[in-house]
Amino acid sequence: MVRRQLALVFLCYSIALPVVAQADDGSGAASPAKTAVVASVERHRGELAELADEIWTYAETALRETGSAALLADYAEVQGFEVERGVAGMPTAFVASFGRGRPVIGIMGEYDALPGISQKARPAKEAFVEGGAGHGCGHNLFGPGSLGAAVAIKELIEAGELEGTIRFYGTPAEESVGGKLYMVRDGLFDDVDVALAWHPSDKNQADTQSSQALVDFEVEFSGKAAHAAYDPWNGRSAVDGAELFTHAMNLMREHVRPSVRMHYAITHGGIVPNVVPEYARVWAWLRDTKHESVDELLERVERIVEGVALATGTEATLTVQSGDYEMLPNIQGARLIHANMSWLGPLEFTEEEQEFARTIQRATGVEEKGLSGAVEALDEDPGPPEGGSTDVADVSWKVPTLHLSATTAAAGAPWHAWPVVATGGMSIGHKGMTWAAKALAATMVDLFEDAAAREAVRAEFDTKTAGKTYKAYIPGGPPPVPAD
Ligand SMILES: [Zn+2]
Repeated sequence: MVRRQLALVFLCYSIALPVVAQADDGSGAASPAKTAVVASVERHRGELAELADEIWTYAETALRETGSAALLADYAEVQGFEVERGVAGMPTAFVASFGRGRPVIGIMGEYDALPGISQKARPAKEAFVEGGAGHGCGHNLFGPGSLGAAVAIKELIEAGELEGTIRFYGTPAEESVGGKLYMVRDGLFDDVDVALAWHPSDKNQADTQSSQALVDFEVEFSGKAAHAAYDPWNGRSAVDGAELFTHAMNLMREHVRPSVRMHYAITHGGIVPNVVPEYARVWAWLRDTKHESVDELLERVERIVEGVALATGTEATLTVQSGDYEMLPNIQGARLIHANMSWLGPLEFTEEEQEFARTIQRATGVEEKGLSGAVEALDEDPGPPEGGSTDVADVSWKVPTLHLSATTAAAGAPWHAWPVVATGGMSIGHKGMTWAAKALAATMVDLFEDAAAREAVRAEFDTKTAGKTYKAYIPGGPPPVPAD
């Protein structure tokens, strides 16, 4: 996430839906199968924490998660799953399945880190590896937590207590590229009845918020090189193109809806001042609450690029590289998740863990609220999404997708930054991950046992996607796997 927080955007989401979940005071959610999955996660919690710590140490970035993916795939195999590695053209993507027939319940795990934010598991800023990557989005917990839930369900299928197929999706490169888009494109989710995911957070909540749609593109300018002093009239500067383009985007900023976010980096801006630059490149993202709006923004930007090429005498090309749709929340599913979270009860943190979080909060200048272990109320009518996007959203257009957040970080502390790396590498992260695994497994028990619940989740999905077409923001061809 983060590309991240999840909100409702379509008005139709707020219409009243029939309740399928059990009483959400938690009393109605208990069952022997749920008690069994909670016990399973508890039994495996040490192993799951070891997996999380090892992935935290590897801190591998998008499509380079070789060690992290192998660790999770190997663990799934040892647990008895059938594992297919290197799916959808990505060496670090895999699918682990157990059981047969319907229903098919899928659960996603991520494990990519972010460059440049290496941090020790301490409450003060200090790199673990100088200049290295770090798990500033908690994905070291995301993968093992989801896999722990899948293992708990697998044990019940093996024991003959549940019928159907449990499938764990090892999904790489959430932070860039969007590995799930390629997995969706290759049909890996086609036969899934319901998919689930979670995300590390600073609160425990069944997510009902959407996320921002996003398009990721590059604009390249080609000019003509010349001596910048002797014969500049023979040159056409590609950097002029880049500058005029970013200037035009910044003027456009005033004339877009307040929900729009635009950001860019100039990734190639010439080499030396005394040569008129022949080549320049800008990498940019456009976001808004719906993909239709993002498409409109992209059309405006395409016209800007044409105008800039004319004005600067350069050639310009815009290439869409990736992007995400907005998340389609599922309220029926959120009610199931909320009922199971309430049944589990709040997440307990020790005074030492609270002090660890408060130290981070003091260091980052945010309110010293410590850690929030409470189960937040279910918000069936949240506002538009906060900033951030996720490729889980693309899966949510293919198959009904349920999502929860669990506390692994200090309340209000900066995300994609050292504080999240710090708490994700110690007991606070482990606790949130274990709790998430239990809530996900208990919710999956409902989805396996209760055909009516599955149908209600599917009916809401069908209503929300009726008359709409999903078209991923990825070019044709294979995913951009790095050569080295
Ligand atoms: Zn994330």
